[in-house]
Amino acid sequence: MTLTTPYPSPVVRSRASTALREEILGYCRESVRAGLNFNTQGNISVRLPSVEGEPDAIVITPSDVRYDQMVPADMVVVAMDGTVLEGDLLPSTELPVHLAHYRRRPDARAIVHTESTFVNVLGALGRRIDPVLLNMVLYAKGPVPVMPFEFSTNADFGRRSAELLGDDVNAVVWANHGLLAVGTSLKLAFKVAVAVEENAEVLHHASQAGEPRVLVYADIDVPEGARLP
Ligand SMILES: [Zn+2]
Repeated sequence: MTLTTPYPSPVVRSRASTALREEILGYCRESVRAGLNFNTQGNISVRLPSVEGEPDAIVITPSDVRYDQMVPADMVVVAMDGTVLEGDLLPSTELPVHLAHYRRRPDARAIVHTESTFVNVLGALGRRIDPVLLNMVLYAKGPVPVMPFEFSTNADFGRRSAELLGDDVNAVVWANHGLLAVGTSLKLAFKVAVAVEENAEVLHHASQAGEPRVLVYADIDVPEGARLP
């Protein structure tokens, strides 16, 4: 286990607060507990608030570090052009893909990438994940498209993934690999990843037994006063 201290006073000196770093780490560990990731799979990033005179930046999990061995100081702060601003470790190999999604979706404040089982069952079949659960339609907002398999570490893949994701839906499947979820907060992006996996499992089982009813976000009658994500 490597304990790195890239700066003497993390809260004062870093663009990414210790609280944010701890929140990211908490969701990384939760992703393993929830069965969305194992080993060093997956990654998380958060868009940092703009600071005058500083480049726009994100904070992202490092590459190839087990979540149970990761510490808040391991997170890497990276400018939108890919320049590492803070951190001793390498950023996630999917950094260019995260950056492409932030550029395409100004509303995205956080990205959660997971490699959960039922998302991958449907992804391996090349099947779009239609919403059959309320949670899915509320958080993902619509059917989750599937990108055909290819290696996912370059900006061109990221641009096409972001294009397929579009403006309205909050997740995209990478066939034979996993899911990328976006949200207006880290909490919401994580809920999207959980909702899509849960929905994928139910959709998979329901499809064996018959033809499941698919929910359409625009057609749902939302009761007055209902609190939506
Ligand atoms: Zn991955």
